[in-house]
Amino acid sequence: MSLYDNYHRVKENISLACEQSKRANEEVQLIAVSKFHSIEAIKEVASYGQRDFGENYIQEALGKISLMPDLNWHAIGAIQSKKTKDIINTFKLIHTLGSNSFLEELVKRVPISSPQDVLLQINIGREAQKSGIMPEDIFAFFEQVLKHNNINVLGLMCLPPFDDEPENTRPYFIEMRNLKEKVEEEFKVKLKHLSMGMSGDFKVAIAEGATIIRVGTDIFGTRAKKI
Ligand SMILES: *Cc1c(COP(=O)(O)O)cnc(C)c1O
Repeated sequence: MSLYDNYHRVKENISLACEQSKRANEEVQLIAVSKFHSIEAIKEVASYGQRDFGENYIQEALGKISLMPDLNWHAIGAIQSKKTKDIINTFKLIHTLGSNSFLEELVKRVPISSPQDVLLQINIGREAQKSGIMPEDIFAFFEQVLKHNNINVLGLMCLPPFDDEPENTRPYFIEMRNLKEKVEEEFKVKLKHLSMGMSGDFKVAIAEGATIIRVGTDIFGTRAKKI
């Protein structure tokens, strides 16, 4: 399969999923997850009209961003607090704010004049090995973030427990939607985004309210080892 075919098949599947759940296509943003893939592949997908790309590793991301600075770059991997200084004014959206130490670093370094848009990463499966805020801690964390006007929370993100069967992930997506509604109610705010759904389960995620899906393999093919 060519990148052209892959990309257009993904776009078609997004349209179908939107249609089936009676949602407008424009409600769902596609992020092409390009980790471990070459700048040539990124340029090709960009030539088909894709603007938003996601990267997990800061070093790798910074190299690519310097070559294609006009694309919209999303940080979707865990970010060590000590790397925070390297990413100021770099990413359109950071999906992985999920710890107090990272919050403190961001607050310290992001200029008030250009606030950083973020999503709060929720550890929706309560997995010991995954980062993110536990669902029961979301109110306390949100309250902390609200105190700082250089950090803009646009919504929630999750990486649910891996499962071959997308239906098994549906309950986590539903829990995310409910959690978002609870935060909105508690803090009288409107959260724009739910970033959830990857190659294996984005159709289910769209049915449950995802506004951002992060798709790598279905577009770029399987990943080689970490570069
Ligand atoms: C790698 C990655 C993706 C993309 O996964 P695919 O299964 O290749 O679509 C999405 N989100 C995060 C956080 C990732 O690390």
